[in-house]
Amino acid sequence: KERTLAMIKPDGLLGNYTDDIKKTIIRSGFSIVREMMIQLDEEKAKLFYTEHSAKSFFPDLVRYMTSGPVLLMVLEKYNAISDWRSLIGPTDAKQAKISHPSSIRAMCGSSTERNCVHGSDSRLSAAREISFFFKDIFPG
Ligand code: ATP
Repeated sequence: KERTLAMIKPDGLLGNYTDDIKKTIIRSGFSIVREMMIQLDEEKAKLFYTEHSAKSFFPDLVRYMTSGPVLLMVLEKYNAISDWRSLIGPTDAKQAKISHPSSIRAMCGSSTERNCVHGSDSRLSAAREISFFFKDIFPG
């Protein structure tokens, strides 16, 4: 089995999508190994998205990610990383509504930035991201 980091971003939480997202998670065969709600501060948001620090959208991204609490979940199943990425759909939530209408981002996202959920994109980033938030567990 494999583990991945899932996050419901501030727009997902504020829009009350948590229950629907969790239903989709369980229905799709993931187990939720750990769960934690936190408010990211600027420093932590910058560190989490450090690979994007040179991009023009970075200041907006940091503002968005610190605009309210996020819900972090460690998800586990066979092929968890790529299955969770498929379930959330493409980065641009507007595009997702057209091309992947049953994806999570189509349901709760609104733009390229405000796409309501996150998922690790590789084994390496899953290990990094799980350890980043959950100091005490084995990443997978
Ligand atoms: P995530 O890493 O959150 O799962 P992703 O892998 O689909 O998303 P990345 O390219 O890693 O997308 O970008 C990280 C986040 O930065 C996106 O989820 C989105 O919130 C924001 N973002 C990405 N591209 C843009 C953009 N062109 N304009 C504004 N925000 C963007």
